[in-house]
Amino acid sequence: MNIDHLNKEYDIIVVGAGPAGSMAAKFAAEKGVSVLMLEKDRDVGYPVRCGEAVSKAGIEEFITPDEKFIAAVIDKFCMVAPDGTEVILPLNEAGYILERRIFDYELAKQAANAGAEILTRAYVNGLLFENDKVSGVKLEYQGKQEEIKSKIVIAADGVESRVGRWAGIKTHIDFRDMESCVQITVSNIDVDQDTCYFYFGKYVAPEGYFWIFPKGNSSANIGLGVSGMIGKSKSAQSFLNDFMSKNYQNKPILTQIAGGVPSVITLEKISAPGIIIVGDAARQVNPLSGGGIVSGMIGGKIGGKIAAEAVRSNDLDHLLTYDKAWHDRLGKRHEIFDKIKNAIYGFSDEKLNNIAYSFTKIPLEKRTLGKLFRTALINNPSILIDVAKVFVV
Ligand SMILES: Cc1cc2nc3c(=O)[nH]c(=O)nc-3n(C[C@H](O)[C@H](O)[C@H](O)COP(=O)(O)OP(=O)(O)OC[C@H]3O[C@@H](n4cnc5c(N)ncnc54)[C@H](O)[C@@H]3O)c2cc1C
Repeated sequence: MNIDHLNKEYDIIVVGAGPAGSMAAKFAAEKGVSVLMLEKDRDVGYPVRCGEAVSKAGIEEFITPDEKFIAAVIDKFCMVAPDGTEVILPLNEAGYILERRIFDYELAKQAANAGAEILTRAYVNGLLFENDKVSGVKLEYQGKQEEIKSKIVIAADGVESRVGRWAGIKTHIDFRDMESCVQITVSNIDVDQDTCYFYFGKYVAPEGYFWIFPKGNSSANIGLGVSGMIGKSKSAQSFLNDFMSKNYQNKPILTQIAGGVPSVITLEKISAPGIIIVGDAARQVNPLSGGGIVSGMIGGKIGGKIAAEAVRSNDLDHLLTYDKAWHDRLGKRHEIFDKIKNAIYGFSDEKLNNIAYSFTKIPLEKRTLGKLFRTALINNPSILIDVAKVFVV
């Protein structure tokens, strides 16, 4: 696909070919409207800035799990308290550590197979407007400035999104809510390949957590996120360096990445005339876990379908139903996860140790994530009700 072969106008233009963009493009194209997806990078899915953990159930809604994009199959979590107490939590349903480079590619192929056109190295740098309604994009491609019109733009341009702001949507995020993350992929490391490890406490990852996610073949993603406030006084990189020198000295490092995770509830408005926002750009990340792959795909699916329906019914006001549809499916749950996150953020190391210690008294087969949060928040009855709403306890 070259820009000369593109149409001058599409029903829908999707900006960004991450999981949210590809799903928006796929579900829109499946409804028979014309879709163009533009990606600024050379490759779809690269560079990868992600721990790559997902639940099996989460991705199964979109794609059949395939070993070509699964680096490790997870059957338990190991939560490590500040004093080293380990809490093993068997998972009812498997999790995966993805090979996102391949996974994102497969999602984009789904969009292409549904009829979407895709162009990489296409950097969107502005929006077109007609009568105060978004009516297309400006982009730079191979050193030339171009314009392509569309009835609807879907902004799927990730955490550093600017497209929504250009449309006048408030996209500001408080410093404290942007988790500052770093991660290395390390080889020749001895970790259980079926276990995701989470470390907590003020010395490893205050107002966040530290993770080791196995990546198959004696390798692992090792990283952490700390709130923007913490990052001001000690960087995520310094926490990572400290952890590595204490626990895994001189391990071969295959990749190093840094990035932000918007650990916050969804933007107040995610649609405006002629435009909707999906994925990280809309802050559709689970604020408690920081996971945004599956929730972004869900946002993309809902947004892509509604955008296509709006085109087909020639009723662009239908776009404005997207906010409610998202909130009903996941946005409201994210509000609860955000409350839980804020309640546990302030826990002292001593409190975290006590929670871990009490939880180890529960027999292995009776442990669930919901029970863990119930143990953690036992003195906070108003939140316990919320815990019950989002976790099977
Ligand atoms: C360190 C780290 C670890 C993480 N670990 C996990 C995890 O284990 N599990 C999980 O579920 N989530 C994790 N996340 C979050 C997850 O990576 C994101 O939530 C997910 O990638 C969001 O998908 P998206 O499609 O919204 O955005 P992205 O995947 O960021 O895709 C956005 C795309 O838009 C493109 N783009 C941006 N601007 C433009 C433009 N102007 N023109 C054209 N293209 C543009 C970008 O190049 C990019 O390809 C992690 C994030 C970080 C930083």
